[in-house]
Amino acid sequence: MSQPSAPTAAPSRFDVHRVRQEFPILGLVIRDRQLVYLDNAATTQKPRAVLDALTRYYTKHNANIHRGVHYLSETATEAYEAARRTAQQFLNAREPREVIFTRNATEGINLVAQTFGRRHIGERDEIVITGMEHHSNIVPWQLLCEQTGARLRVVPITDDGELVWEEFERLVGARTKLVGAVHLSNSLGTVNPVARIVELAHRHGAAALIDGAQAAYHFPVDVQALDCDFYVATGHKLYGPTGIGLLYGKAERLEDMPPYQGGGDMISSVTFEKTTYNELPHKFEAGTPHIAGAIGLGAALTYLTGLGLDQVAAYERELLAYGTEVLQQISGVRLIGTASEKASILSFVMEGVHPHDIGTVVDQSGVAIRTGHHCTQPVMDRFGIPATARASLAMYNTREDIDALGAALERAREVFA
Ligand SMILES: *Cc1c(COP(=O)(O)O)cnc(C)c1O
Repeated sequence: MSQPSAPTAAPSRFDVHRVRQEFPILGLVIRDRQLVYLDNAATTQKPRAVLDALTRYYTKHNANIHRGVHYLSETATEAYEAARRTAQQFLNAREPREVIFTRNATEGINLVAQTFGRRHIGERDEIVITGMEHHSNIVPWQLLCEQTGARLRVVPITDDGELVWEEFERLVGARTKLVGAVHLSNSLGTVNPVARIVELAHRHGAAALIDGAQAAYHFPVDVQALDCDFYVATGHKLYGPTGIGLLYGKAERLEDMPPYQGGGDMISSVTFEKTTYNELPHKFEAGTPHIAGAIGLGAALTYLTGLGLDQVAAYERELLAYGTEVLQQISGVRLIGTASEKASILSFVMEGVHPHDIGTVVDQSGVAIRTGHHCTQPVMDRFGIPATARASLAMYNTREDIDALGAALERAREVFA
């Protein structure tokens, strides 16, 4: 029987050059060279779909939402709530009211600490986080501990930048009320086994919060599959605007939490004697929200979903492998973060060169990377280094970008040799 010759592997449908066309800023020439943007873990660039959505909103729909009876207010409200439904689908939340718009990931974590935390975490209770958290998932818990007398416990990490699982299991116990863990570490690139972490927390009756600020734009996230109680993400890394973020919370958790901030929109009625609060999600969205930001983020998520995050993840995996190879071939370069499950982050030090000097020399070649502690000072302490240089990938990066980084690093070697 003759069969049509089937391709052995499906060709990647991800067309990076077409994607790049959608990001006007990538056409910039910096220091006489085409911009090579490898600082995506700090913030990503914006596609035309987002820029257009923002312009469209301000030119055709701008009005305040939720209280207006006029046409513009109704269309603005509809667009804002449509963005919430897009975010719900993006994270696979059960219902739109489980998605709260925040300013960023940081605000989402602070919200949980000051509402869920103030209500359910008391003296001698414990909060367990990992040694690779961003400051955003450390400091809110330290503040809560100061306020309540609760105790913060930290899961150590290995030389490869992986969690020491036996220690994790030992630290989570009857006193634990919340477990917080980063999904994808912004300074090491480690992808943590978050479903397993959530299961561990639940086994001991604790809630689980996952910091997805770095993860959500690199691979698909399904909050129902993870079964986490809370998940945070940030718009400006999801190819959306700054000033807008997402907090997912299970409805029963959010229902049970007191409001975060007081003001307009979060109330159902106000008298000087007694104020009653609005229902979800509005209870947590006091004041006029970042309407344009939410709509812009909705456009970003629609764009990203259209490309397919599975496709994006596969493409970026290949690029990371290539980047790892290139960096390992440069003498004196040592990667920080060599976990078996990694994504998108190439953190490194270079023998005899301070990370800040690497950044400066690389910048002279038009290549944007970041140097510093990346808001994870405890990770730097763990590895006994002041800082790393970090190249962080996004879906519009290419092998040519990595080659440009490699060449710039060779130049840095020569300058400081
Ligand atoms: C960027 C980042 C944050 C903070 O995001 P904001 O937008 O600044 O709130 C938190 N955690 C991780 C892992 C990050 O990469």
